Amino acid sequence: MTRREVCFLLDGEGRVLWSDEGSAAALPDSRARWEAIWALREELAEVAHSHPEGPLGFSEVDRTTMAALERALGRALRYSVVAPEGTIRCLGAEGEAARVRPEPPWAAALRERSGLPSR
Ligand SMILES: [Zn+2]
Repeated sequence: MTRREVCFLLDGEGRVLWSDEGSAAALPDSRARWEAIWALREELAEVAHSHPEGPLGFSEVDRTTMAALERALGRALRYSVVAPEGTIRCLGAEGEAARVRPEPPWAAALRERSGLPSR
């Protein structure tokens, strides 16, 4: 199965408000995503994306993007990364990442679209 990075914008109840996808190793910045984030800013609570090839962690680029997002919105969000071996989450762009066990319900859909095995 083709693996690709997928991004979900989620509300506070874990409902998927918007999604898009990139390639196996990258999720390029996209104007459409920024516009969706801005349009959904009232409901937006969490930004989740997959690392189909790992690692189970936030990259430098992720952290930079998260900080830019919070400057634009003026508040902190939750962020998650789903990798083959599990899911991590942090609160705020500089927050410490912690394992999420069990994975949130939306993670199954994110795994499926990313070409990752379910857990
Ligand atoms: Zn990432």
